[in-house]
Amino acid sequence: LNKKVEMTNWEKGHYINYAKMNENLNIVRQRLNRPLTYAEKILYSHLDDPHGQEIERGTSYLKLRPDRVACQDATAQMAILQFMSAGMPSVATPTTVHCDHLIEAQIGGEKDLERAQNINKEVYDFLSTSCAKYNIGFWRPGSGIIHQIVLENYAFPGGLMIGTDSHTPNAGGLGMAAIGVGGADAVDVMANLPWELKAPKITGVRLTGELSGWTSPKDIILKVAGILTVKGGTGAIIEYHGPGVDSLSCTGMGTICNMGAEIGATTSLFPFNDRMYDYLAATKRKEIGDFSRQYAAELREDEGAEYDQLIEINLSELEPHINGPFTPDLATPISKFKDAVAANKWPEDLKVGLIGSCTNSSYEDMSRAASIAKQAMDHGVKAKAMFTVTPGSEQIRATIERDGQLKTFEDFGGMVLANACGPCIGQWDRKDVKKGEANSIISSYNRNFTGRNDANPATHAFVTSPDLVVAMTLAGSLNFNPLTDTLKDKDGNDFKLSPPSGDGLPANGFDPGRDTYQAPPEDRASVNVAVSPTSDRLQILEPFNAWDGKDALDLPILIKAAGKTTTDHISMAGPWLKYRGHLDNISNNMLIGAINSENGEANKVKNFTTGEYDAVPATARDYKSKGIRWVVVGDWNYGEGSSREHAALEPRHLGGLAIIVRSFARIHETNLKKQGMLPLTFSDPADYDKIQPEDKVDLLCTELAVGQPMTLRVHPKSGETFDIKLSHTFNEGQIEWFKNGSALNTMAKKNKA
Ligand code: SF4
Repeated sequence: LNKKVEMTNWEKGHYINYAKMNENLNIVRQRLNRPLTYAEKILYSHLDDPHGQEIERGTSYLKLRPDRVACQDATAQMAILQFMSAGMPSVATPTTVHCDHLIEAQIGGEKDLERAQNINKEVYDFLSTSCAKYNIGFWRPGSGIIHQIVLENYAFPGGLMIGTDSHTPNAGGLGMAAIGVGGADAVDVMANLPWELKAPKITGVRLTGELSGWTSPKDIILKVAGILTVKGGTGAIIEYHGPGVDSLSCTGMGTICNMGAEIGATTSLFPFNDRMYDYLAATKRKEIGDFSRQYAAELREDEGAEYDQLIEINLSELEPHINGPFTPDLATPISKFKDAVAANKWPEDLKVGLIGSCTNSSYEDMSRAASIAKQAMDHGVKAKAMFTVTPGSEQIRATIERDGQLKTFEDFGGMVLANACGPCIGQWDRKDVKKGEANSIISSYNRNFTGRNDANPATHAFVTSPDLVVAMTLAGSLNFNPLTDTLKDKDGNDFKLSPPSGDGLPANGFDPGRDTYQAPPEDRASVNVAVSPTSDRLQILEPFNAWDGKDALDLPILIKAAGKTTTDHISMAGPWLKYRGHLDNISNNMLIGAINSENGEANKVKNFTTGEYDAVPATARDYKSKGIRWVVVGDWNYGEGSSREHAALEPRHLGGLAIIVRSFARIHETNLKKQGMLPLTFSDPADYDKIQPEDKVDLLCTELAVGQPMTLRVHPKSGETFDIKLSHTFNEGQIEWFKNGSALNTMAKKNKA
């Protein structure tokens, strides 16, 4: 195990460290003395302190050392801007950035890519120069979708990676534990801090039997989503195992892991097997495959490993499924789908079929899909509905161009889009229906929430395998079941489609296509990071001020929020995504969705200096300009939702000092601490009701100490001053963040010392 095998062909000097992983694992084994699941093995072998770490599934917080970080272009901007303020010359953990989210589908791959390069030029310039500067691998626009590129080039069995995108778990197809995180977590790992994860529960999915006919790997996750629902995987890793696993291709396993994000799972993964070996060999990483074979005993679950929950699926009995509309867990087997369409009055006419995306664009997916298109054309018929193809990577695109599938799709009536997310993330200039018009589309993607693809809330989006997408597109109707129904050929005679067929891996190897990778240069000191001072999409982060060492007196309450205040209420997505790299501009969405307890309205609060009602961000800016710091008062589970760090950066940027609530969603609480804010909770939740929006408060910051409550002195608008107790979860290190102004300031201070 002491062999030196590089983690990837694209970097030098980053070795797979099975020896060290084994050592850590042995330490933990002696402590726990029980059989382990594969997911546990990966996590425990990446512990920062295998001797001292407390380990209880579902309870402890694990401090981990991931092997890699991957960021997509929308989330990478703020992650890198933050990393820059840590004052380090380069990233401490191998990192890559992938340009895939910002390319809009309009008229086809080449032209769309060209347009995106113009529109997003400053973002791409910033990412390419900052990657060069900080030793980050940069995949240019057109290279493909982050998760496909990671599977093709970076994932390896037993590895642990984090990615700033929810479908990072795709790498579980190669036996890697790959977990989606917010930018602040990525920055920690880039800056060599351990990464914290609540020890997940482990849900086992035991596969028996064998896939055949029209049933594909996608149907396994569509079925699992139906069983577990969109919340059922929360706080758990889904671990597949059992004899059925070996009938799945590596990329098929990737599809299953990818879509585990739809049930809220921390990640999903498969044990190392020969199919993974074949894929590693086909993607020029045979050496990794050989190395994994040496460590294979630890790249799967132990005999007798126990799962917190166990699901069994017999693949021989599994039917193809179609999930949706509007939610990915509404699973209907194809045999019942026609009835479901009628019963629910879903629009029968199929308008568009879309294949590809990070979920389903392997060589196998494309070959099987093309085999159906080919059959149709042999009978003289083509796609009835509109049809689009999104290759997951340049390598896939070039290979299916060489091997003919691409031409088949075009002849069938398809439009080949750029190697990017496109319609999957709403980057789709859809013209065939009007907004508000009810219609159906079907894709091989993973998510189908209302409006996700085309911003039309009346679009009924279904997700299924690429095979069924092509069959339904051919029929132009949701009422078609290719397993039982016939179609008309060009002469009006009936014909029935045979089940799809296709190679799992290209017989002639992959064609890498165009070179789309930018390696960091040797000499990085001279690289200048490109950020125009006049840009409205990017802004260099200024370090926040350190604490002045005093109690904060006479602070206004910017807003007393009532009820649910999610990260979407605090920092709305949608059109604001454009400003993800510009803190000042995106701060104009701060708390605009939160409900003011005083008037029951959103984005309307009283400015105590003027007596006028104004928008929340405008009021905060006015206070800031007058040198007045402020607090927010909030309700239960404040900050639930996503891990986006903007929800913590914005209040800090606009002059907030503390967020005082009944309870926090934990990730948001940590994000606030990282930005030098004080997340505080009422020791007695009933005290929330004692505070009125127009009261002033003193916050006795000098009392801040581990495990000690803090005093909030309330000066009501009318009535006597009174004190209430606030609790917090700061530890010693986090108190330093507050004192220094932020976690990054603390890091920068250490790096200077
Ligand atoms: Fe996310 Fe869709 Fe892009 Fe995949 S293709 S990374 S799901 S936006």
